[in-house]
Amino acid sequence: MKTDMQKSNKNFIITIDGPSGAGKSTVSKKIAAQLNLSYIDTGAMYRCVAWAAREAGLDVTSESALPSLLQNLKIRFQAAGKNNLVFCNEQEVTSTIRSPEIDALASAVSSLACVRKALLPLQRAAAQHNHAIIDGRDAGTVIFPHADLKIYLDADLSTRARRRFAEQKLNAEVDLKSVTEAIANRDQADSSRSEAPLRKADDAIFIDTADLDIEGVSQRIIELYKARFNG
Ligand code: C5P
Repeated sequence: MKTDMQKSNKNFIITIDGPSGAGKSTVSKKIAAQLNLSYIDTGAMYRCVAWAAREAGLDVTSESALPSLLQNLKIRFQAAGKNNLVFCNEQEVTSTIRSPEIDALASAVSSLACVRKALLPLQRAAAQHNHAIIDGRDAGTVIFPHADLKIYLDADLSTRARRRFAEQKLNAEVDLKSVTEAIANRDQADSSRSEAPLRKADDAIFIDTADLDIEGVSQRIIELYKARFNG
């Protein structure tokens, strides 16, 4: 069922920002399916850069090593049921880019200005022709500063770490302590970098997800969307 906003010609944009484990991607995918929006996973793009750099044996902390990799980088998403498949340089990397190693490398490459500069137009272009929900760290501050609805999700560190641990233990040998430390390090790096640091946009609506389940958070956002757009 299309809402009034979707029947009009204007593309509308919902941004979902926040730290790791706040529930952004699960909630964004659910809302995208319910409201018939494109889901744009900007974190997956940084993960692809990290993966491609590692494949090429490049030092991901060095700005000078990356320009030619970025010039030739191809990232493609393909809808597959409830999930998007991710292709990087035509190789399917959907689950490969979710490893703890790529978590850390993605955070490292995301602090480099050349990487952010290369990905920004791709992120904006992905929402050019569709109503979209964008999941990231700087979606409401940098990528779409004029988004129609901005949400910032957060929860205390131990809640977020427990969620990540539950996901990661399905595919890897992990323990809660190291997952907690890795998340705390990523939070620190993402919020203290000089390029597009993680922060809540002034006009974003803050939702603490610690005591809400996925359904509860999604419903809150859908209500906000309906109130705003009379959908
Ligand atoms: O969201 P996800 O955990 O997949 O993101 C991986 C990493 O990419 C984050 O830790 C962050 O460093 C970076 N990122 C970013 N800006 C975004 C999305 C992700 O810097 N818009």
